[in-house]
Amino acid sequence: MAPPKIEINSYGEPSVFGLVFGQATLQHSVAVWDIWLGLSERLLDGRPQGGVKALCYHRALKFLRKANSLVFKVDLHCHSTASDGLLPAAEVARRALQNGVELFSLTDHDDLGGLSAARSVVNEAGAGFVTGVEVSIEWGGLQIHVLGFNFDAEDAALNAGLASIRSGRVNRAQRMAAELEKVGIPGCFEGAMRYAENPNLISRSHFARYLVEIGVCEDVRSVFESYIVPGKPGYVDHRWATLEESVNWITGAGGVASVAHPGRYKLTKSEMRRFLDEFKSVGGRAIEVVSGSHSAENVAVFSRIAREFSFMASCGSDYHGPGESYMELGALAPLPSDLVPVWKAF
Ligand SMILES: [Zn+2]
Ligand SMILES: [Zn+2]
Repeated sequence: MAPPKIEINSYGEPSVFGLVFGQATLQHSVAVWDIWLGLSERLLDGRPQGGVKALCYHRALKFLRKANSLVFKVDLHCHSTASDGLLPAAEVARRALQNGVELFSLTDHDDLGGLSAARSVVNEAGAGFVTGVEVSIEWGGLQIHVLGFNFDAEDAALNAGLASIRSGRVNRAQRMAAELEKVGIPGCFEGAMRYAENPNLISRSHFARYLVEIGVCEDVRSVFESYIVPGKPGYVDHRWATLEESVNWITGAGGVASVAHPGRYKLTKSEMRRFLDEFKSVGGRAIEVVSGSHSAENVAVFSRIAREFSFMASCGSDYHGPGESYMELGALAPLPSDLVPVWKAF
């Protein structure tokens, strides 16, 4: 039978019989068609003609998900008001589903408070939900983020570890405000707190929003160039978790640890390798290859690294809210097809 007509919908996505293949390329869609035909013939005992039409899309999709991870729309990195996102967890999950995400993880900074609300929304829609968190650690004087996936959210050691990171945040915020006052910007603690739905998760993003509000900077991105980063006004040191602690908390709770947006850290090539060696030696198994804050070059570099270190690959938009993100939920390019996606381990 000839392949079906592949149509391009208004989002530029290829679709066959109305079944959208997300960011997959046309070539992938043709491969999917082969699988689909094979499936329909098997299900319907050699009645391919009628079979294809009769095949339930959902049933086909379920099979296709297993057979070809490329047709699967995944977003495993985003934030809600449980940390520094702008939308409540349930709304973030709904938005992801509206954008066609089929496997979703909410990864708030150092807090699991949004997981159950997000999980109910995703489960109700019949999509896949994965527990997630983004742990703030310090390594070599830099703040680095380690993602955790698919862990037991009730695990006592993980919860205690995250609580220990959170408890330092309010104190850090007060010290940041004192530093900003020294350069003539008063009232930042109260101002930033107004943006923090969860006061224990007060973060630099909340300060950034306040600095934009009072006209110190034009947008959040420029705040992170001129303020509250090392060497600039308003930055203070803070003791975060260590690399080993963060990975132990995640793996101890049955999860998988992945390095978040590795392209964002100011590490030399050799420092990056040292970091990844150490990450692997303490039990880290994945790296975020496709990220809202990665360039195409970053994707190529970290794909190579994933192959070399035998890391699985994760992907996520790092969505924080409307108007504040590099990328919309679910709007990710597919992972390079030869990499092992992290969800193989879920
Ligand atoms: Zn991050
Ligand atoms: Zn993030």
